[in-house]
Amino acid sequence: MPPGLFEMLSVRAHREKHNLRFLSHWGSGFHARHKLEKLQVMFSYSKHNDDNGTTIRFELRDDTQDPNADQVSGAGMWSILLPILMDLEELLHSYTGVLVERLMECPSCKLLTFIGEWLTPKETQGMATRPCEECNENIDTAFLVQPREKKRVDIGYIRQRIQSARDQKS
Ligand SMILES: [Zn+2]
Repeated sequence: MPPGLFEMLSVRAHREKHNLRFLSHWGSGFHARHKLEKLQVMFSYSKHNDDNGTTIRFELRDDTQDPNADQVSGAGMWSILLPILMDLEELLHSYTGVLVERLMECPSCKLLTFIGEWLTPKETQGMATRPCEECNENIDTAFLVQPREKKRVDIGYIRQRIQSARDQKS
């Protein structure tokens, strides 16, 4: 772990714009609840035993207590996670010689089978699902990258137009 990175990230996570209410802090992590969305955010890091590396882990969990209420959508989660990740990316930029590997956990088998593509989401945004190499489950790409909302609206609009074109024909 680059010296000071965790401390600086912790300071940034406290920024007002992230809307986090901190529940607990410990030497290598924190646990917070989002002030507006029903979400819990967990952050932790652990040093590897076998090499010089460190794993930094972000976890978002739906915190909806009411079983009848809608859960927070993938897009909703990304809108909270992405600004925090970008704060981390910006910090990493200020360190030289740091090798970063970005990974995503498979929501099905919980293994780190996906590349973390939050900086380059375009290709995956164009797909509805992506298969996990390990469990072969087709994973909704909303779990892997921030969905492109505008595109979805456009597709809906195009479908509507096709539909109305068909209606006119018949
Ligand atoms: Zn999997």
